[in-house]
Amino acid sequence: MNPIDRIVAEVDRAADEIVALTQDLVRIPTVNPPGDEYAACASLLGDTLRRHEFAVEFIVADGRAEHTSRHPRVNVVGSRATGRGPVVHLNGHIDVVPPGDGWTTDPFGAVIRDGRIFGRGVCDMKAGIAAAVFAAEAIRRAGVEPAGTIEISGTVDEESGGFAGVAWLAERGRIARGRTDYVIIPEPLNVDRICVGHRGVYWFELTTRGRTAHGSMPFLGVSAIDAMNAVMTAIRRELEPALARRVTTMPVVPDGARHATINVNAICGGQPIDGVQTPCVADCCTAIFDRRFLIEEGFAATKDEIARLVKGAVSSIPGIDFELRDLMVVEPVLTPHDSPVVSAVGGAIRQVLGSTASLVASPGTYDHKHVARIAGIRDCVAYGPGELELAHQPDESCRISDLVSATKVIALATLDLMGGGR
Ligand SMILES: [Zn+2]
Repeated sequence: MNPIDRIVAEVDRAADEIVALTQDLVRIPTVNPPGDEYAACASLLGDTLRRHEFAVEFIVADGRAEHTSRHPRVNVVGSRATGRGPVVHLNGHIDVVPPGDGWTTDPFGAVIRDGRIFGRGVCDMKAGIAAAVFAAEAIRRAGVEPAGTIEISGTVDEESGGFAGVAWLAERGRIARGRTDYVIIPEPLNVDRICVGHRGVYWFELTTRGRTAHGSMPFLGVSAIDAMNAVMTAIRRELEPALARRVTTMPVVPDGARHATINVNAICGGQPIDGVQTPCVADCCTAIFDRRFLIEEGFAATKDEIARLVKGAVSSIPGIDFELRDLMVVEPVLTPHDSPVVSAVGGAIRQVLGSTASLVASPGTYDHKHVARIAGIRDCVAYGPGELELAHQPDESCRISDLVSATKVIALATLDLMGGGR
């Protein structure tokens, strides 16, 4: 048998083990926030990788405020070299969002039903981590020794920005251009799709300030809520229609996320709703906005447009001051379609599933941003088992057949990126 057939056969033979590792990972409730059980999950992953002949290191984000003795931020990185050549890094986040309500099974039971594994974090993205681990293991069991290195990392806090996870490893040069050639992140993007990037994020806070007065004589004050309302109206009437007309050439899914968007995350003005009320004109109102911008728009123009819009809206109200504050900026990322990592995963999808991969971009961001912006690595995609729509939902699950197929795809893509093997 040729190396590809041997690897595919080894994945099939390991199917029960892949499922069992997924279940073991899901049964460790690595809920974020606050960041529970990271050390236990990292050590399970580290032990598994050691058994598969990886050299394993634990990298603790001890310089970050969110790293505490109760909730240590522990990342694990395994490395296995079978010769000199490209370094392929498979990265998965070990944290999961809180289970929430509406489950029909134990969210941390990892129950199997109708050919699927159920649990919080199954598809986002513990099945993906198990797929990465067994992709590498199938290559080893098949006796194929490609010239290069496979790295597998389990990192923390992706759901809350990844600053103690992938960003931490990238800032320390553990994932870096010159050291790491290709990165595959097995996020749940559906088994026949390759994700090449995401839109940009601009979170900002707007505070309007007026002047308080007695609520029985509101005409003597200047309402900060009225000013915020003027801004909201301008967003609805002017900005949103303009954003809807801007469509990116990036293949963002779903279709509605193909254009620029804005969402109001929070708003708070005047007196606390649950406090005792007094008759006062609101002298302060604050709102937080989430603007998703396109690679074609760029951040500078996006920020500028917001500043002009706010200024225009409140200028009609005498006596109002405002303040705009940037909370978070994430630049869009896009892996070139001719990147070797895109063609390797695409070729592997064709071999395993017999179908042509579609290229997609994510509506939201994930750890790709740190790989691209901090580590400076161009060749990164997300590809993994699980349906994107089920992430963060009650009764989250992953089809076992998809898990096995994705393991094969990741194995063959990794082999291809390492120049094949004997
Ligand atoms: Zn995820």
